[in-house]
Amino acid sequence: MIFLQNIEKSYVTGHQSLHVLKGINLRIGEGELVSVMGPSGSGKSTLLNILGLLDGFDSGTYRLAGNPMHKLSEKQGAYYRNQFIGFVFQSFNLLPFKSATENVALPLYYQKISRKKRNMMAEELLERVGLRDWATHLPSELSGGQKQRVAIARALITKPKVILADEPTGALDSKTSEEVMEIFKEVNGKGMTVVIVTHENQVAAETKRIIRLNDGIIVKDEVPQSIVP
Ligand code: ADP
Ligand code: MG
Repeated sequence: MIFLQNIEKSYVTGHQSLHVLKGINLRIGEGELVSVMGPSGSGKSTLLNILGLLDGFDSGTYRLAGNPMHKLSEKQGAYYRNQFIGFVFQSFNLLPFKSATENVALPLYYQKISRKKRNMMAEELLERVGLRDWATHLPSELSGGQKQRVAIARALITKPKVILADEPTGALDSKTSEEVMEIFKEVNGKGMTVVIVTHENQVAAETKRIIRLNDGIIVKDEVPQSIVP
């Protein structure tokens, strides 16, 4: 599903250039449930943003479901994002003055699907993440865990092949984190590829593979102890 070869990325600000990803080689197959760990500043978000086509890279090869992702135009990037990617952020990124249903339905607006159909699909997804009774509520009326479940429903509504989540439980307590992880595991159980950036061992231990990043390189790629037979 995801194939990276020698991916390099620097950020240039003024006269300074910061080499963030220093040759990332990685293959993630369809249906995997993977976590990415590493110290703050090691390049986890940069890597996830590249995978999610939210940011470009300088050199190397990225193939998503076999399609080369190098130097995409805005339009191509939007197309592949829509087609393949669901992104979940630590800070939820919900629209504050829209209901849970409207937030979840939003990606379909850009696909020119009728309001009636959009809302119907959104309500189905809210039900799936356990929020049927919260459909008409605004984000400010929801707990952190509920907001993240709305954000996951929004990521799922386009039926992506890959879910990418950047510290999705970073703002949640451990019980709520567990509920959010249950949803990712359920979604993965249906065959979706899931990649989760986290610094919590508890979260990583629930995935089937842990990729450890340090200073822009992958230093370890392992199966969590919890599932070693
Ligand atoms: P992590 O998610 O592992 O904490 P990031 O990928 O966010 O790390 O950041 C890696 C490094 O790149 C950090 O030193 C950060 O300050 C820098 N960085 C991230 N985004 C940008 C940007 N848009 N412009 C300049 N530097 C950035
Ligand atoms: Mg980060």
